[in-house]
Amino acid sequence: MTALATMMEVPLTVELVLDRAQRWMKDVEVVSRRPDRRLHRTTYGVIAVRARRLARALVGAGIRPGDRVATLMWNHAEHLEAYFGIPLAGGVTHTLNLRLHPDEISYIATDARDRLVIVDDVLLPLFDKVVAAGATFERVIVVGSAGAPEGYEGYEAFLDSAPDVGLPTIAESDPLGLCYTSGTTGKPKGVLYSHRSTILHTLVEALPDSLDLSRSDTLLPVVPMFHVNAWGLPFAAAMVGAKLVFPGPYLDPPSVLELLESERVTVAAGVPTIWLGIREALDAAPAKWKLQPGLRMIVGGSAAPEQMIRDFDRLGMQLIHAWGMTETSPIGLVARVPPHLEGTDEALCYRLRAKQGVPPPLVDVCVRNDDGDVPADDRTSGELMVRGPWIASAYVGGHSPDRWTSDGWFRTGDVARVDEHGFVQLTDRVADLIKSGGEWIASQELENALMGHPAVREAAVIGVPHAKWSERPLAAVVLKPGATATAEDLRAHIAARFPKFWLPDEIVFVDAIPRTSAGKFKKTELRETYRGHYSAS
Ligand code: AMP
Repeated sequence: MTALATMMEVPLTVELVLDRAQRWMKDVEVVSRRPDRRLHRTTYGVIAVRARRLARALVGAGIRPGDRVATLMWNHAEHLEAYFGIPLAGGVTHTLNLRLHPDEISYIATDARDRLVIVDDVLLPLFDKVVAAGATFERVIVVGSAGAPEGYEGYEAFLDSAPDVGLPTIAESDPLGLCYTSGTTGKPKGVLYSHRSTILHTLVEALPDSLDLSRSDTLLPVVPMFHVNAWGLPFAAAMVGAKLVFPGPYLDPPSVLELLESERVTVAAGVPTIWLGIREALDAAPAKWKLQPGLRMIVGGSAAPEQMIRDFDRLGMQLIHAWGMTETSPIGLVARVPPHLEGTDEALCYRLRAKQGVPPPLVDVCVRNDDGDVPADDRTSGELMVRGPWIASAYVGGHSPDRWTSDGWFRTGDVARVDEHGFVQLTDRVADLIKSGGEWIASQELENALMGHPAVREAAVIGVPHAKWSERPLAAVVLKPGATATAEDLRAHIAARFPKFWLPDEIVFVDAIPRTSAGKFKKTELRETYRGHYSAS
């Protein structure tokens, strides 16, 4: 006899998160820095009321289940209202990446068939270029304290127009958010998150061995809300009832430090470039900022160099390294030293923290090459594969089906190996591997080693065409302000760790390394710049 379980079937939707925040966390603050630098203060209670009003206004504007509503906004309270209000209307929040070229934003908005857009007034000059590039929206709703400029509809007026209508019933499998991949190879592709995937991701993200978020935290997401939903952190903060602090358009080190200090932030999140800048500002004026003791900084998006982790420990702050992708919502690996190794071998603990780590509950990973799953020997590499309830099972429109294996894994395109503790370490992107004389060289490993030199701020390694070896590595290095080192110093620093043929033929010193909109090294541009560099060889 088959027996049905006797538990309630409650759909896992973000409405549960909003209801709870409204009921039990209503006085918890949400602070946003405005474009005029003023701090705007509101609460989850107020945001919940306004998010529902936004949902009704959207239904009144004709938004129907599954329709896409775009946002072109910095991190602030109204963006949080959109995170909840659009899905409550049955819509899909499509966060447009304001760092992309207007032509690309236009392509993405058109591909997504965005019907409405909510845009910051300070971003209207960019938005006008997006429209000039061909994107069309039925309505443009402008957020800003000065009211909407002539010819535009204001956000507050839009909220006031909300009719007294009921909101649609949402199923947990309904889509809630849309994010496009950064598209370093090929056209950007859409990943459509569901309510269920978001709720499960949010729950697990907050766990102590994941990002360890609780009601006693004050969270500052420096990572933009248009990058994989600011790594899901706004949802997680609302779920646990943490105070939220949004930086608005100001992501420069002094502005971030001001907020960390004045709002007594306990946990912040951003890509390594952000923390590089903060480290430099703190080194330049160590006594200037009074930060919360034990401040945690979640870092991901690119590898966190071990030296950076050590430097922040010295400053009494803790970097927590995590790995993820647009396709993985994004949390897929977190590098926390297991308790039985804590306090043992210090060098080992730092090495582990600089790796990408182990998967959180409900996510599974494997590293495979042509011979199958690689052994946990810290040497053999393969491609990292991942599966779980918040991992994409397809791109919108079914593009690139070859990114999924026939047995249900998502191919990340990241090259990795696994050590005896089960820690995954990324060594490269498949596309960035360098092939020299028939042998593979992992560019990220060289970069991490170069960034371990005390004079190096950043290092990017690329393969440059070479007549004899087909490709040879070249390193572009940015030194720390005031620091000096020669190419020979740097080569000597890394020589012991790699086979001789891995060492870059040339180390060039540059002022900056080109970056993508998400702050990753833009190796396509570097490869273009140095394409002919070894041609005389
Ligand atoms: P995106 O989808 O734009 O977030 O990019 C995802 C890619 O960023 C991954 O496939 C990795 O190559 C890279 N990435 C993310 N987190 C890390 C990390 N902690 N260390 C190294 N690379 C990372």
